[in-house]
Amino acid sequence: MAQYKYRTHLNQGNSSVYDNLYKPGENCPNSGIYRCDVCGDEIASNKGNPFPPQNHHQHAQGRGPIRWKLLVYAQQNK
Ligand SMILES: [Zn+2]
Repeated sequence: MAQYKYRTHLNQGNSSVYDNLYKPGENCPNSGIYRCDVCGDEIASNKGNPFPPQNHHQHAQGRGPIRWKLLVYAQQNK
């Protein structure tokens, strides 16, 4: 589970971007921390880069493929 120390630097958001699921190799739309919706594994991914390939981590048989979901959006200053 993702952790942080200083709550003052994180805000809760309700955007639908937190609900989308992404496949391995798909283009990352927003920089941030992503969590596999199936097993809870977490990664950092940068906007415009592909998500890790299918062999990044393994699921037990029958649990389905890796699906990345945005956990913490990395907000960049303009
Ligand atoms: Zn997983």
